[in-house]
Amino acid sequence: MKGTFPLKSFESVVTPFYYYDAELLRETLKTITSEANKYENFTVHYAIKANANPKILRIIKEAGLGADCVSGGEISAAADAGFPNNKIVYAGVGKSDWEIELGLDKDIFCFNVESIEELEVINEIAGKKNKVAQVAFRINPNVGAHTHANITTGLSENKFGIAMEDMIKVIEIASEMQNVKFVGLHFHIGSQILDLGDFKALCNRVNDLQDELERHHICPEHINVGGGLGIDYAHPNRVPMADFTNYFNTFAKHLKLRPGQKLHFELGRAVVAPCGSLITKVLYVKKTAHKQFAIVDAGMTDLIRPALYQAYHKIENISSEDNAETYDVVGPICESSDVFGKQIDLNKCVRGHYIAIRSAGAYGEIMASGYNCRKLPLGYTSDELAK
Ligand SMILES: *Cc1c(COP(=O)(O)O)cnc(C)c1O
Repeated sequence: MKGTFPLKSFESVVTPFYYYDAELLRETLKTITSEANKYENFTVHYAIKANANPKILRIIKEAGLGADCVSGGEISAAADAGFPNNKIVYAGVGKSDWEIELGLDKDIFCFNVESIEELEVINEIAGKKNKVAQVAFRINPNVGAHTHANITTGLSENKFGIAMEDMIKVIEIASEMQNVKFVGLHFHIGSQILDLGDFKALCNRVNDLQDELERHHICPEHINVGGGLGIDYAHPNRVPMADFTNYFNTFAKHLKLRPGQKLHFELGRAVVAPCGSLITKVLYVKKTAHKQFAIVDAGMTDLIRPALYQAYHKIENISSEDNAETYDVVGPICESSDVFGKQIDLNKCVRGHYIAIRSAGAYGEIMASGYNCRKLPLGYTSDELAK
């Protein structure tokens, strides 16, 4: 089975563009909330950095998720989309003063703090504003994730978070400060994680750290385990949704929450990746002695994941029912890495056919660049286009 696309309505928009299946997104959100609500203390935030298209944010906000931000721009995007300020959390190793000020002005729920140096600055700026910033400490749990090296974040060699050995020290320092309040511990071990054993390892590490806190009579109000749940890029139609049931169950089973403690999640990719496709047109089919290229009008400027992470996206010719032929699908950018797929089978392509690059709803549109002076791709939802 192929994903269904409103080909007729595509004629009214310029390629390349992102097409978002709003129905799938809403279904995914429904599943996330119903699975998380099975457990009393679970709260889910959406990691804005995966996709900040306002149309997408509004749908996610309507489902009741909070927002996880990694910049001042994302705090503004979340607020503009209507996420309540008390559901916004803000992480990042390098928060600028204006970003901290913005978070304080908006009275966001929590700053996820990644160093003592940052804690001092937050305390100082909050003092000037006569405010008390709620802070959680992002702890680097030194837990590896079985994913691409560029998207693992929880190893001690990575730049993220505070070392476990320093956890008690920073909490004690915070307790001496007037304008910060320690409320939680934060973790995030990486992205596109499909082996739930990685999350189990995180749970075990959090349990050890909580035991240590208990010895110091410290009990955080919440634990935030970040995001990272992966999706099935190879089978967008057969497996259009991540396994949220087992994901939440893994934490319910292995993480020992203290009485009254809340557990927060920050899912990005698993929320939005499956619903998006990059739609592009075949410009030329170029045959050489050894292969044929389908040259399309989208490039790595529109979707950088294949060039940046050697990421796989399923590619389909959605205009043709003809027998498949083998192509290298490449873009127009002046870089040899501007390739979406090598030696892949597509229904026979001719100029003008629509190609769908699937599962591109996360880290797609948001990472687009203007390299080669190209226009940024626009995004449309099925609510707008399906007629
Ligand atoms: C990127 C990020 C997330 C979301 O990661 P996904 O793999 O998209 O789920 C969550 N929390 C933090 C702190 C992040 O940086």
